[in-house]
Amino acid sequence: MSVRTAAGPAPHSVADDEQCRVVLTAHPLQRIGAYALAFLGKAASPAALLPGAFERAVEQMTADAVRAALQRDTKADDGFWLKSSLSFFPNSKMNHPSNAKRTDEEIRDAVRQWRRAPEDRPDAACVLCGRQAVGFYGKVDVPLAESDLYRNTTPRGHLGMALCRPCLCGFHALPYGCRLTGGPAIAVHSWDERFLARTLSRQVERNRQLIAIGRADPRGIASREVLALQALRHHEDRMTAGVELLVFSNNNRGQTLEIESMDQPVAEWLRRSSRPPRRTGFPALLRAHATRHQPGIVALARNAFRAPERIAGACARYLTAHLDRGVIREETDALAELCLSFVTEVMLMNQNEVDEITAAGAKVAAWLHAENSAGRLRAFHATLKDPPRMRRWLMRHNIDTLLDPAVESESPLITERQFRLLFDPEVEQAWFHRQVLAVAVVQRLHELGFRPADRAEVAAAMAEEDAEHPEDAEFVKGEE
Ligand SMILES: [Zn+2]
Repeated sequence: MSVRTAAGPAPHSVADDEQCRVVLTAHPLQRIGAYALAFLGKAASPAALLPGAFERAVEQMTADAVRAALQRDTKADDGFWLKSSLSFFPNSKMNHPSNAKRTDEEIRDAVRQWRRAPEDRPDAACVLCGRQAVGFYGKVDVPLAESDLYRNTTPRGHLGMALCRPCLCGFHALPYGCRLTGGPAIAVHSWDERFLARTLSRQVERNRQLIAIGRADPRGIASREVLALQALRHHEDRMTAGVELLVFSNNNRGQTLEIESMDQPVAEWLRRSSRPPRRTGFPALLRAHATRHQPGIVALARNAFRAPERIAGACARYLTAHLDRGVIREETDALAELCLSFVTEVMLMNQNEVDEITAAGAKVAAWLHAENSAGRLRAFHATLKDPPRMRRWLMRHNIDTLLDPAVESESPLITERQFRLLFDPEVEQAWFHRQVLAVAVVQRLHELGFRPADRAEVAAAMAEEDAEHPEDAEFVKGEE
């Protein structure tokens, strides 16, 4: 059926129009490709990509592929795009080993032929979007690392999956939406459309420049997980979904796909924590995660994907690390606040319970402050890694406080409910509550201005231990 408009020039059939309209499907790599295609066509979203702009985007991709193919050598100065293509389109006309012996004209024709959609259409629907397929495609065009999808959707006797032209072109656009390494590609994905659109828009812009010059990105990345944190830091709106990292290669030497996921609460907390006004504590959060051999940003990003509960632990350890020497860090307030926000926003700890535990922490701190004894502080510090000892210590001081005629105490240091939250074996999160207690104690000591005499000396030694990793300084500075 033809659609005619009064003023329109050449009429398009609905079927043809459909073959240059990008839709989003449930396949994360197709989604990334669809957005990349939209941005190559200078549209704001896949849905906004009009047929004319779609054709221009496809033409640009073909021109890029031809230019790279004419290099013939992946090791050439500007052969990075050709090298990267091996991870996406192995054995394609773009990087075929026989290209070394072919003329420019032959290569140009072969690449253009490869990227052209065939006229004959099979009697099959696109496995991703259900529209008319234009052919069956295998690993030359589509990363097949998701072998289940491949197996489940490939009819017997066919070499690949049935795809419509827009979905196929989306896969051709995939490299533009990924961080290209020359080896496995890294893609940041999310079901939060706004976040995905902004993240990919920046990535496509960057890759267009790099593909034009054929060079690798000169900016290194400390680790793949850090890419997600960079994207979150750039995002202005609340995250409505988590973030996934897809690291894949379609290379002949082995197809791989690794997926890491970060849940929405962690993603949103990291986004807020790395942006103003909350970012005051962020440098301290990085220092809390840094080790001699690893920048804080790498450890933080990995924890966010793999074991978010460790983030609070790292903060607690950092804040209490030198209590035995009487030192409360300068950045205690900012980091403690960040840590407590993590406790309610990510660990979803009940606010009532947080209040109970911070109240207990404040009382312990007030008592330590009043005692003004380095020895007492050391004794408390020694209980942090030893729950039974902490329990004994708190009980002991509870009794002392209650019996001390000098103290007007109607309430004990720690109430029964607080004891239960901290030590009851039936309270699943008791270990976590004890970390919160430690943070609350240090936070209150800092507020009270707890400063023993030998502080300056110890603090100087600590500054040396805390020497900053360049990667962390870079991240905090906000450069991508
Ligand atoms: Zn499709």
